[in-house]
Amino acid sequence: MFLVFIGPPGAGKGTQSKRLLAHLRIPHFSTGEMLRAAIEEDSDLGRLAGQYMDGGRLVPDDVVMRLVLERLSLPKYALGCLFDGFPRTITQAQALDQALQDRGTPLDAVIELQGFERELISRMQKRAITEQRADDTPAVIAQRMEVYKRQTAPLLSYYEQRGLLHSINAMGSPDEVFSLITASLATK
Ligand code: AMP
Repeated sequence: MFLVFIGPPGAGKGTQSKRLLAHLRIPHFSTGEMLRAAIEEDSDLGRLAGQYMDGGRLVPDDVVMRLVLERLSLPKYALGCLFDGFPRTITQAQALDQALQDRGTPLDAVIELQGFERELISRMQKRAITEQRADDTPAVIAQRMEVYKRQTAPLLSYYEQRGLLHSINAMGSPDEVFSLITASLATK
């Protein structure tokens, strides 16, 4: 099963994606993790990507797609995976569709976690106090929310038009949200 997981900051995407990976027994495909590993290795890709990531900008589509297509051909992703943090642009979504189509394994579903912006921001502010996360200051929280809205809204309509979008109310407890996700996937 090939799934895309999308969610605004504060919606619990980290928690829910871990549970979903264990439940479906599919590998995690996180471009953010792959790019951070490339930076750690100090490879050409890492040095290039680092220039964008340091400023909180997106790594260019052609760079991301080269990495994604190379990794996607690994045997561990042959039967499915959970795409996390990817795609982030329409260009990436189209390139992913094409790649999966060529392999004869099209995308099965896109899960979107939904929440009220005010509630999500308040959750992140609470988390900032308990976990002391550097990226949870009020200014950074507002910036991440803006970036999410700007970049992700077009992807949601792209997938909705293709009948792939499962929008999940993420305002309940972690158990409630997870039940909604599995119930929604069972209907597809
Ligand atoms: P993440 O761990 O998914 O939040 O990604 C961390 C950073 O890596 C992002 O802020 C981007 O700079 C970069 N990044 C990760 N995935 C992508 C992607 N699909 N397209 C462009 N940049 C990405």
